[in-house]
Amino acid sequence: MNDILLLKLGEIVLKGLNRRSFEQKLTANLRRRLIPLGQFRVYCMQSTIYVEPESPDADLDAALEAAKKVFGIVSVTRAAACEKDKDAIAQKAIEYLEPVMRTAKSFKVESKRSDKRFPMTSVQLSQYVGCALGEAYPDIPADMHNPELTVFLEVREHAAYVHAAALPGAGGMPVGSNGTAVTLLSGGIDSPVSSWMIARRGVRLIPVHFFSFPYTSELAKEKVLTLAKHLSGWCGRMTVEVVPFTEIQTQIREKCPEELFTLIMRRFMMRISERIALANGAGALVTGENLGQVASQTMEALRCTEAVCTLPILRPLIGMDKEEIVQMARKLGTFETSILPYEDCCTVFTPKHPRTKPRLSEVEEAEAVLDVEGLTEAALAGIERIRIELY
Ligand code: ATP
Ligand code: MG
Repeated sequence: MNDILLLKLGEIVLKGLNRRSFEQKLTANLRRRLIPLGQFRVYCMQSTIYVEPESPDADLDAALEAAKKVFGIVSVTRAAACEKDKDAIAQKAIEYLEPVMRTAKSFKVESKRSDKRFPMTSVQLSQYVGCALGEAYPDIPADMHNPELTVFLEVREHAAYVHAAALPGAGGMPVGSNGTAVTLLSGGIDSPVSSWMIARRGVRLIPVHFFSFPYTSELAKEKVLTLAKHLSGWCGRMTVEVVPFTEIQTQIREKCPEELFTLIMRRFMMRISERIALANGAGALVTGENLGQVASQTMEALRCTEAVCTLPILRPLIGMDKEEIVQMARKLGTFETSILPYEDCCTVFTPKHPRTKPRLSEVEEAEAVLDVEGLTEAALAGIERIRIELY
């Protein structure tokens, strides 16, 4: 008899008619994540996904870890299996829940019976197992109204299951349920976080990185690929589009006023990203921009950069404090990689005195000396596509 996982669905439950297609997306995403971990039976009933091991090598602990990273799941629980017999259930509860029963201040038992042939009602089973737990752990009082710990029992077709409180899942919506977006991924702290936040809303991501070899090194590129690999644990397989950016930066430096370097460079990034988005059926661009963080992220500067795009630009970090972003990066596990000291193309040509309140007309005028279309086309033609395997 095998332990199983119970995964609770999040807000997709609320989605009315779309619900079935959301559930299908979510179970498909989950199944794909479980392929390397053995054979599992995965099915959805009443806003819960059940994961049952089907082969001897199926690694349920690894499946639990993988499920925690599947968007659309709000909580994950490992439930212990036992015979469908009241004493076997009580004994299992006593053993399996020992670590949580030892520390709980109070408890209650709740039961669910999908096998209606089971000879006790749910209430009777709860009372019976509640008494057994009370005897085994006499210091922990039962509390029906406000228990610290709720013990769950479930009598199903082939077995009974015991579990305690669930662990938090990743939340959000299943990847692929809300379209595709191009995310601008630098090697910094911010953009992995902004990418994750948008993926969590159910968006499939196409990461784009602007690479200025030899001003930025192979190591800087590797760093970005490592960040993408981290994200793939949540987002699934991705292909990073690495755009050659050296020629554009060189031309800007030769021909444009220094105080507008960064802005003109960022306009190229947005333009190229939008072309990639449109070519791939993506509906938006994602950046890690944050109001006032640097000169190129004032309101005036954002206006100048987004003027070259028609697609919506999603900036999930716009109103966050750096400390909050850092905390999220630590939680996601991207922080340590992000702070590796490899230069980024933005820092290589940072002007000494960047304009913080640029006017769109003057940026357009300064840029007009460049062959914008030719440079954009050449960069697009030189893209290197790198497939990221799952983390
Ligand atoms: P991050 O914002 O990720 O910490 P950063 O601070 O070096 O990196 P900024 O100068 O703040 O980057 O750039 C703002 C946003 O522009 C980034 O969050 C990212 O979305 C995008 N961006 C910057 N540089 C690149 C790059 N080389 N390739 C792709 N996107 C980039
Ligand atoms: Mg930044």
